[in-house]
Amino acid sequence: MRLPDSVTRIAIPSKGRLQEPSESLLKAAGIKYRKRDRSLFAHVDSLNAVILFVRPDDIPLLVAEGAADMGMVGKDLIHENRCEKRVTTRLELGYGHCRLALATRTSDGAKSVKALKGQKVAASMVTSAKEFFRRSKVDVQLLEVSGSVEIMVALGLADAIVDLVESGDTLRDNGLEVIETIAQSQAVFIQAQKPRDPKLCELIVRRFEGVLTAQQYTLLEYNVPRAKLKDAEKITPGFNSPTVSDLEDPKWVAVKVMIPKKQSIDIMDKLEALGASAILETQILNCRL
Ligand code: AMP
Repeated sequence: MRLPDSVTRIAIPSKGRLQEPSESLLKAAGIKYRKRDRSLFAHVDSLNAVILFVRPDDIPLLVAEGAADMGMVGKDLIHENRCEKRVTTRLELGYGHCRLALATRTSDGAKSVKALKGQKVAASMVTSAKEFFRRSKVDVQLLEVSGSVEIMVALGLADAIVDLVESGDTLRDNGLEVIETIAQSQAVFIQAQKPRDPKLCELIVRRFEGVLTAQQYTLLEYNVPRAKLKDAEKITPGFNSPTVSDLEDPKWVAVKVMIPKKQSIDIMDKLEALGASAILETQILNCRL
């Protein structure tokens, strides 16, 4: 079956660690679909779009070639597939954080890139690894492996590895440590250069932005003496500016403002110390700013 050309195609990982968070983000943005067991695509309810379930490594190329209009994928794979100039990154999605790193044996491995000259390096991200050693002007023997990169040193096949690292626990468990970070990565939302329906792409980006902002901010409401309002506004400047309303007592005002979620406790402490009262924090589920 061929998909009609008017339908917008959104490629998402069919497996792996970015699959679940990508599906959750689509759901939170109201992009609903029914996935049948072995089907490779699903129609989106109430939008002229389909979700394509594909291998993560294929997503950059599908979007670069315009076979998909949008895609959710790790930034590392866009670089690895040399698609950076062929796709537009619309949003950083805030999950799938990791870094591409060079690691060696903690006990007696090389402690600099230069010291690896002539040694064996195992990597699954071969393009990125080659580019790194070329840039560093160090000649190494690169071994291409498709998984379990960490074990190659323990097996004596390699002296170092280039691999994606999140916490570093797997490296430590295998007696390895990072000696250089090559690149940072996270999941991103990419768009083809000539999407089938640019307006629909814009709508989807706005929906994602709403969800992502809501994940990072909370709503704070408090009362503060009018004389302290300027100081309070310095603590909570808001996304654009805070909403300030009069109270029955003319000496007091009520403030409603969005604040970064991670700083909420600290901000509440500061407001309380300033003399604010009735400080309430509420979760934002979704927003458009
Ligand atoms: P997977 O399909 O599970 O191999 O997913 C790999 C993608 O997840 C990569 O392209 C990265 O963008 C991201 N990722 C995040 N943390 C890690 C990690 N520790 N190892 C491998 N991939 C990671």
